[in-house]
Amino acid sequence: MSFFEIVDPEFGRFVIGNAPVKKLATGFDWVEGPVWFGDAGCLLFSDIPNNRILRWTPEVGITTYRDPSNYANGHTRDRQGRLVSCEHGTRRVTRTELDGRITVIADNYQGKPLNSPNDVVVKSDGTIWFSDPHYGIMTNYEGFAAKEENARVVYRVSTDGTLTQMVTDMQCPNGLAFSPDESILYVADTGRMHSDDPQHIRAYDCAPDGTLSNGRHFHTISPGCADGIRVDSDGNVWSSAADGVHCIAPGGHLMGKVLVPELVSNICFGGRAKHELYITATTSLYRVTLNRRGVQRP
Ligand code: MG
Repeated sequence: MSFFEIVDPEFGRFVIGNAPVKKLATGFDWVEGPVWFGDAGCLLFSDIPNNRILRWTPEVGITTYRDPSNYANGHTRDRQGRLVSCEHGTRRVTRTELDGRITVIADNYQGKPLNSPNDVVVKSDGTIWFSDPHYGIMTNYEGFAAKEENARVVYRVSTDGTLTQMVTDMQCPNGLAFSPDESILYVADTGRMHSDDPQHIRAYDCAPDGTLSNGRHFHTISPGCADGIRVDSDGNVWSSAADGVHCIAPGGHLMGKVLVPELVSNICFGGRAKHELYITATTSLYRVTLNRRGVQRP
């Protein structure tokens, strides 16, 4: 069997024909939020319904990093390498300091609690961008059922801690990623997950000061949803989908697919050359080595 589906012949150069889509670990309930720590030689990711953050290393496999995790979902690292996490249970975004203390980055907008922060990225200027759909408060499965008190938007947290609503034209903003030069912000809308609303990725021009403009349709994922997205060093957008991971060219067309036997939630680049794609997919963690590299941050 092939692990890849080539749509644009160019995609044949992005993959390594004999590199497997390898199942690294399984037995989870719903995993998301992979983040690579090259310095620690490990991957962290969330098993959301089981309220824990897990750690995978090639030597040991799975160990527990944090339990309980406040139903953490998406993670990233900031410019200082610290873990930044979205927590459904506490409806907040936190930073884990180098000594282990946890600092709250955001837990309300104008005095009202956030919905359930889902995914987060940090721009090179230190601003923190996160999506705030309602998935973590819809039921008690991935957090605690509660009513929504704020709109479902993408926020930017300035370096002084101020929250600004940046993307306000989505049903359910979810995964987000910047282009390599940070001139474009991609945001996934997974409104379709629970209705006939959109399941597309939108693109926004991002000025050096963070101002967004020219919001536009970039690509509609099918089958499934663009829950998590990452960008490679050439600007291709890699997105979760129901049948695997789709690679979308900067121009918006589907290049090809990495086929995964479970519904994919999130992805991240890792490994010594950031040439490995780590894939969280329903009950399992997968990895495939690519002939592409994730965005290289200085
Ligand atoms: Mg998500």
